Amino acid sequence: MATQTKDYYGTLGVKKTATADEIRKAFRKLARKYHPDVNPGDKKSEEKFKEISEANDVLSDEKKRKIFDQVGFYSDNIDAATAEAYARGGGASGGGYGGGGGHAGGGGVPFDFGGFDFSGFQGASKASRAESEGGFGGSFRDVFSGMFNGGRQARGPQPGTDLEYQVQVDFWMAIRGGVTRLEIQRQEQCPTCKGRAVVGGSMECPECHGSGQVTQMGGRMKFNIQCPRCGGSGKVQNACNTCDGAGVITKKEPLEFRIKAGTRDGQRIRLAGKGNAGTEGAPAGDLYLIIKVGTHKLFHRSGDDIHVSVPVTVMEAALGAKIDVPTIDGTGEGAGRSQLKIPPGTQTGQKLRMREKGVPSATREGQRGDQIVEVKIVVPKVQDERSKEILRELQKLNPEDPRAEMLAGV
Ligand SMILES: [Zn+2]
Ligand SMILES: [Zn+2]
Repeated sequence: MATQTKDYYGTLGVKKTATADEIRKAFRKLARKYHPDVNPGDKKSEEKFKEISEANDVLSDEKKRKIFDQVGFYSDNIDAATAEAYARGGGASGGGYGGGGGHAGGGGVPFDFGGFDFSGFQGASKASRAESEGGFGGSFRDVFSGMFNGGRQARGPQPGTDLEYQVQVDFWMAIRGGVTRLEIQRQEQCPTCKGRAVVGGSMECPECHGSGQVTQMGGRMKFNIQCPRCGGSGKVQNACNTCDGAGVITKKEPLEFRIKAGTRDGQRIRLAGKGNAGTEGAPAGDLYLIIKVGTHKLFHRSGDDIHVSVPVTVMEAALGAKIDVPTIDGTGEGAGRSQLKIPPGTQTGQKLRMREKGVPSATREGQRGDQIVEVKIVVPKVQDERSKEILRELQKLNPEDPRAEMLAGV
């Protein structure tokens, strides 16, 4: 945390050579924009406000800024002399503080900082921080101190996320309705810790042994930094074994749900509260099922209408006929049939509408779409002389040229 290199100048949008006044102005401008009082409940603004406050805390303090410039980060545990020594590559100590282990070497002998404990400097820098907070309103001070008193903020209850599944539904089931099953994977609240992610009471942090600080190497030097495990509190709670400290467990769950008759391709079904579980009692997300309807080799569905192409003989088309055509009104996997009147003189490609023979509407009770039959005229495969004779005779009786109109325009 504290040892991460940070770009405080970039955060405030100022140059490295910025004056104290420029830094103050840049911070005030940003603080006005991201202050939690101005953006209540906005996590991003709060995060941004923390960042600019932290940057300002360091850059507005001459001593801290110098340390930051020299070391590349700032920690309360580094004093000016240490930073100075660090910046000079550990050539010689700035002196001024005691402690065993160190020996000020001459020339190129590296300085050994092992065994130094800088934690004693923390008290002093806390006081100077209080000073730098001066000049701001009361609410700002409260927010400020709340953010920088160390330690991770409790995660708190997190609402569960939504889940989305695509469900393949057979052509017939989408039309007639039915029950389908699906196995979903969702996060459920951990039954052991009840979503708290930890179990038992708090105990001493094994990382820092309760001190809240750990030693970290920074180049050739050691720094005491806030313990990342316990966030400086010195206490930890055992992570729940069941959920590995996540508060939720992933479970496969069979799901059975009803497909309404007339369900369309791409339709979304929302199952409230069936998404991922929230933690610590926060509400679960929703589950969305996106219906993908299968196709059929004969019937083509367009909304609630059914399109089907039906072959008709030349004679049927010319003379008119009553023919049987397939419809969706069958049972099981099969299609039904219904009579359709072909008017005399029907042409190929002509569309005939069969009212209320389409898909029952999923939204409008008792209503159905239509079936649209596209006539496809098939020519008889004449082989015998008698049939050919009749057709030649027919041609003589009907000498009209079907291309006359299109050729007339040329
Ligand atoms: Zn658990
Ligand atoms: Zn710790």
